[in-house]
Amino acid sequence: MKIHFLGGIQEVGGSCIAVETENEKVALDYGIKVGEKVSNQFPKDFDAVIISHAHLDHSGNLLSLSGGNPVIVGSKITRDVTADLLRDMIKIQHMNGNHFSYNNRDVDNIEKCWWVRDSIALPGMSIQLYPAGHVAGAKMTSIHAEGKEILYTGDFCIHDTEILDGSKPENLPKKPDALIIESTYGGKTRLQRSELIDQLFRQILSTIERKGNVLIPAFAFHRSQEMAKRIDQAMEDGILPNYHVYTISKLAHKITGYFNSYKRFFTEEIQKQKQPFNYQHVKQLRRTEQIKEPAIVICTSGFGHAGASLHLLTEWAADEDNSVVINSGYLPPESPLKIAKEKGEFIEKGNKIPVQAEVEQIELSGHADQRELIQLVRALKPKRTFLVHGELEQAQALSKKISGITEVYIPERKETIAM
Ligand SMILES: [Zn+2]
Repeated sequence: MKIHFLGGIQEVGGSCIAVETENEKVALDYGIKVGEKVSNQFPKDFDAVIISHAHLDHSGNLLSLSGGNPVIVGSKITRDVTADLLRDMIKIQHMNGNHFSYNNRDVDNIEKCWWVRDSIALPGMSIQLYPAGHVAGAKMTSIHAEGKEILYTGDFCIHDTEILDGSKPENLPKKPDALIIESTYGGKTRLQRSELIDQLFRQILSTIERKGNVLIPAFAFHRSQEMAKRIDQAMEDGILPNYHVYTISKLAHKITGYFNSYKRFFTEEIQKQKQPFNYQHVKQLRRTEQIKEPAIVICTSGFGHAGASLHLLTEWAADEDNSVVINSGYLPPESPLKIAKEKGEFIEKGNKIPVQAEVEQIELSGHADQRELIQLVRALKPKRTFLVHGELEQAQALSKKISGITEVYIPERKETIAM
């Protein structure tokens, strides 16, 4: 058996790993890098392509397979959200006047080729998917073939969040021959989630006291719904006072519809509610002009580099009564949000915009931090562990921590390992 480390190696983005046996060849994820186009960089001769979750850095390159009628495996919500994100990507490429070889028919074809399964059997190989936490519908994948067991975590999270159960190490196969594990936060331990949420509410409350606006850029999938639900519940419970709260993102609103329909992906508490993502205090708006200030606004893009979040950042940054809450741990180096945070001013359409608003980074991430990564390795005791989906220094930091438990290896991009 061979493992080919094709993408998302010593970096975050463009994940793709191939597992090849005598008879079968399977891809684990088929992603693109943020800001890069769909390409033909990965092989296409797969018997199955397993998609761990609906983030484009794990699924965005599927378009390049659409002509070949691939067998794609993943959860239902991963299929539907991936299709929407791919259509959105095509729309943006066309809007920007870029040449783009793919269209919505390719996305339709990807959907037709999708097998919504938690397990499949190929000749001499069985594949099982397990809940991974991280985002709705995210899965880990185990492959059993030629007497060997391989477990690929994809992106995962062990702790429970308000709307999603974490992954359960006790339900995963023990002592796999190879564990292929993400290492995004390999060198980083975050505050407990409850402390981060307190921090968020304190930031919102102090802004409300001075009647300011709160801008919360958030990704259309999962982070928007999670944040809206969190604030809605806090107002329901009286933790936050009544205030205008809005979400602005056509794509996020469509995905919110799936969240109401596919309740089984969420916690028991969410499943008990009739329409859990029809909020009491949070209104869905189509345009920023509909905002009644002062307000809390959750909107796309999550990096604040386009759409409503860039528009509001530009309008609100100069006022010291306002605040901006950054959720994401990672921001692209050129993003206005990153520049606003670090330099105290940014340039938009040739205008220099001073940043007087408070800019707070509160990392309510869906990734395991170093503590949870170690926890998983301890629980599974893999023979060998391969660190992927993390910058080299993150992977190296994790490697040091787990080398007493397992044989650790940080592969090079395009490296092949024989098992
Ligand atoms: Zn992800």
